[in-house]
Amino acid sequence: DKTLHIIGGGMAGSEAAWQAARAGVNVVIHEMRPKVETFAHRTGNLAEMVCSNSFRSDDDEQNAVGLLHWEMRQAGGLIMQMADRHRLPAGGALAVDRDPFSQSVTDALHALPNVSVSHEEITGLPDTGHWIIATGPLTSDALGQAIARETGAERLAFFDAIAPIVYADSIDMSVVWAQSRYDKGETEAEQKAYLNCPMTKPQYEAFIDALLAADKTEFHEGETAGYFDGCLPIEVMAERGRETLRHGPMKPIGLTNAHAPSDKPYAVVQLRRDNALGTLFNIVGFQTKMKYGAQTDVFRMIPGLENASFARLGGIHRNTFINSPTLLDAQMRLKSRPNIRFAGQITGVEGYVESSAMGLLAGRMAAAEILGQTLPQVPQDTAMGALIHHITGGAEAKTFQPMNVNFGLFRPVDGLKGGRRGRKDRYKAYTDRAKAAWAAWLDQSALDAA
Ligand code: FAD
Repeated sequence: DKTLHIIGGGMAGSEAAWQAARAGVNVVIHEMRPKVETFAHRTGNLAEMVCSNSFRSDDDEQNAVGLLHWEMRQAGGLIMQMADRHRLPAGGALAVDRDPFSQSVTDALHALPNVSVSHEEITGLPDTGHWIIATGPLTSDALGQAIARETGAERLAFFDAIAPIVYADSIDMSVVWAQSRYDKGETEAEQKAYLNCPMTKPQYEAFIDALLAADKTEFHEGETAGYFDGCLPIEVMAERGRETLRHGPMKPIGLTNAHAPSDKPYAVVQLRRDNALGTLFNIVGFQTKMKYGAQTDVFRMIPGLENASFARLGGIHRNTFINSPTLLDAQMRLKSRPNIRFAGQITGVEGYVESSAMGLLAGRMAAAEILGQTLPQVPQDTAMGALIHHITGGAEAKTFQPMNVNFGLFRPVDGLKGGRRGRKDRYKAYTDRAKAAWAAWLDQSALDAA
């Protein structure tokens, strides 16, 4: 059977369908709405934007998500085409008029003779045929359970408890030192995989006060369902007692300040290397529901992070996602069942744009396979390549958490200044390099329709 079946007609499923259909493949989209609802969607349309109406920065020279927009436009992406058509004025950001946007994505797919939409919930994993699962952060319970049975429950998450991620080059190493607790780890690299920020008692007290006073966001109704035991927000821990954090994620034991070995810190904030390149560090145990503005203010109180730049801020959300680094191959196929690909937010990317991007790649890869062809590897120096490489192998599998596209995922360009001062030139070099590599890949990967 040469039909491509796509479960979920959201951002990723719609883009995947468009790409595959345009390559000449027959596509069936299986979308459960409007028959089965989620707590966030409101309509039965394809590609509904559930929350903000922003595709974030459209700057394709200085911003990684802007670069991803550019790459998708070059690939004839449907989501970008309709976002551009229904663009609202918003300075440098790409804001979208959400209802006409999703209506026009729906209409464009219905207008293709080789695409059909079946409104039904799929509840199990298909044994045969070509499939893409793009059911997103709010994957239905029945399908979520079927996935968990296949992958093992520990490789499917229903919540993301995201600790903030800091760019390594914005950490003040004259204050911070590298050491794992009790020097654990076989190799020197493992022993140095953690960075430590020491706090005195007054610093700790001020930090707790700021945490308690900070603005927080509330959970959506129907969102919690008791899933998030074991990953309490730091401010909730602080509410349980002023000393709770000092005995939890901020405990100072097993660590010696390399800059001042005789000073015993009152508390220590630990950061853990977040990617193989060593360009990103997450703040260990610091998942939070603080609002973004409050987070940057509070986290910059941590000694060594006064000038920190954040690749992403913390959060806790209902979010179904799989441990892609261990489960998927480089073609986004489930290793244990290669007739099934995953795409979109369920692969561990985060956001409308990133999810659509992974739909674009999965749709093209599936179409190529059905047409008896194999696409060349997506170049790692593109935004697309940085993301797919991160989820299918570059990220640390043990601590895998959903990721936005950002320049921390890019391989460094040789011969450029580091730190803040060289940033503009560095980002321009990344985006120039990416554009050339993406154009070349699109040339090499043109599919011959059957
Ligand atoms: P979706 O767009 O969610 O599409 C998945 C589709 O699969 C849905 O249409 C669903 O109905 C369908 N489906 C699920 N299970 C089944 C099944 N078993 N059978 C058939 N169909 C099924 N991202 C941002 O960029 N900005 C934001 O402000 C933002 N806010 C968010 C707020 C909330 C409350 C949530 C939950 C997510 C938010 N996101 C936001 C993330 C955003 O929703 C995703 O990045 C994006 O929609 C993911 O695209 P997707 O195609 O992977 O999933």
